[in-house]
Amino acid sequence: MKCAVCARQAKGLGYFNPRLPRSDPRRYSDRWVFCSMRCQNAFSKLMSRLAQFQEDAVIDPSDMEIAAMRSALGPLGEYVASIGMDRPLADYGKDEVLRLVEVVVDAYQAHMLAEHERMAERDRAFFEQRASRQASAATGGDHHRTPF
Ligand SMILES: [Zn+2]
Repeated sequence: MKCAVCARQAKGLGYFNPRLPRSDPRRYSDRWVFCSMRCQNAFSKLMSRLAQFQEDAVIDPSDMEIAAMRSALGPLGEYVASIGMDRPLADYGKDEVLRLVEVVVDAYQAHMLAEHERMAERDRAFFEQRASRQASAATGGDHHRTPF
């Protein structure tokens, strides 16, 4: 199983959607497994964001995956240049091939994790802003209401 955020080997950290009832099969997915608490947290923040804004589907996971692949091109080019741009792949030693794979996978994972964290951070800032706007707009009366 691969981590749903960064595609590293998952370590049995799962996730369920607390907004859905226990009887709903969509509450769980065996694709929601993670390599670390960091990825699990990033994902659960993203899921709560999606639940709040299901109508504006701004996040397309496949777009994110494509962007993560693109982010590997720079490091890939640098590595190939460092060992000789004119060498055919068939001439690469095993260590060089493994290093090539590592360069790509590292860049991919770093991009996926950073994107998830960036989205979670942006949403946190959005909700805090909205909460403080509502708090300052509220004059008397309504203080017990939650901002959401
Ligand atoms: Zn992960």
